[in-house]
Amino acid sequence: MHATQTLIRGGLVLVENAQFAPVSLVIEEGRVVAVIDGDGPDDLPTLDATGRIVIPGLVNGHTHSHGALGRGGVPEDATLETFLAGGAALNGNRHSDDLRLSAELSAVEMIRKGCTACFDLSVELPGPSVAGIHAVAEAYHNAGLRAVVAPMISDRTIYQALPGLLDAFAPSQRAALAAISLPRWQETLAICTEAFARWPVPRDRVKPGLGPAIPLHCSDAFLTACAATAQAADLCLQTHLAETQMQQVAAHQRYGTSLTAHLDRLGLISPRFSGAHGVWLDPHEAALLASHGAGIVHNPLSNLRLGSGIAPLHALRSAGVTLGVGTDAANTSDAQNMFEALRLATTLSRTSSAPPEHWIGPTEAFRMATEGSARILGLDRVGRIAPGWAADLLFLDRSYCHYVPLRDPLSQIVFAETGAALREVMIAGALVFADNRVLTLDEASLAERAGRAATRLDAANHDARQMAEAAALIVRSFCRSACARHPHSHPL
Ligand SMILES: [Zn+2]
Repeated sequence: MHATQTLIRGGLVLVENAQFAPVSLVIEEGRVVAVIDGDGPDDLPTLDATGRIVIPGLVNGHTHSHGALGRGGVPEDATLETFLAGGAALNGNRHSDDLRLSAELSAVEMIRKGCTACFDLSVELPGPSVAGIHAVAEAYHNAGLRAVVAPMISDRTIYQALPGLLDAFAPSQRAALAAISLPRWQETLAICTEAFARWPVPRDRVKPGLGPAIPLHCSDAFLTACAATAQAADLCLQTHLAETQMQQVAAHQRYGTSLTAHLDRLGLISPRFSGAHGVWLDPHEAALLASHGAGIVHNPLSNLRLGSGIAPLHALRSAGVTLGVGTDAANTSDAQNMFEALRLATTLSRTSSAPPEHWIGPTEAFRMATEGSARILGLDRVGRIAPGWAADLLFLDRSYCHYVPLRDPLSQIVFAETGAALREVMIAGALVFADNRVLTLDEASLAERAGRAATRLDAANHDARQMAEAAALIVRSFCRSACARHPHSHPL
């Protein structure tokens, strides 16, 4: 055995995401290098996992770090479109230090709830900056979390994105809303490219990606350029795909076809492509995604919170689409709890009298939330416990009530765990959470800074909030009647 190795012994370990066994793990350079029956050798530094259930870290396939500073700011009756109309009220006037703080808050929450890697679409208004993108990357690096940091970018506001929306406003309001504009996409992409070229942290843990926000919010030229940039720099690309019925209705109006068919015409659909949500996809779109090796990230709680619908997981699975699981952000989802998303991935598949053979079982849901999401993040050998795979591990207290008595550990984890039994989190062989403390960040200082930032930002964005509240009523009724006029019944 090598001197730089560590032994984890005494735990009940989920091996290969298939079965639990009382094995020991040898860790070296951030990876599991051996899975040994029994206690293993006595001459290595040892982490005692007696009384623990050891599982791979959960991988969050879709979130937004900027959401953490927007926590509590989303009205209880918000839909996605009214939320987007209020984007400036939640995200305006932020400096790069606010983006860093928000990413640190987001990282703390994810680590505390068993997430070891995330795909972050982080926004900066009116457009990205090198300093802002780098601040988010540095925050994840310092937290020890794996991440894809994908600036969320657009060149159309919601008022420019949805055909006919501006006409629903009175002329006086219309002029003010029409005047809102975003930077030219050439400028936006140039900033992203510069930020990626001068990437401030090691890419093996925190790497860049691209996040064209929503296809309708990006011109075709912009989308095509994003695909080319992603291809040239070998980046993952993620967008919000068919999250709401309104998006699919507007796609048929604007493009004369579905969202996915349009993106395919532009050359975006590829193995590096993933769509968040995918609630309103049709069978042709599912087949297109599958045939290109593209993925969909299921965000069940966000879809419920915003009333977007329930994604057709069984149909996507049957079509062969790569599936991952995400939380979405702490603003629209209120919490980033991958255990909760995992449980909803299996339980929501049982609604509407779906036959049991269509249900997503706990083992499959768990694989989606680990290996599936990791594939969507483009991570190499992350998401299972096996020789050569990342030592991203969660240690659950098997004496906690969820596991007493213990009959079927994986089922009990998926159906019952909330994070309450989580005792330690390891990422790339290093502990980042233990003794109920995140070891990589100062949580007390973060809380104090977050309180001050929220007070300052709420005051700075007061007028934008009032404007958003007035616009929300019109946006909601516009979407309702647009969807009623162009019925797009749940297609899958
Ligand atoms: Zn999202």
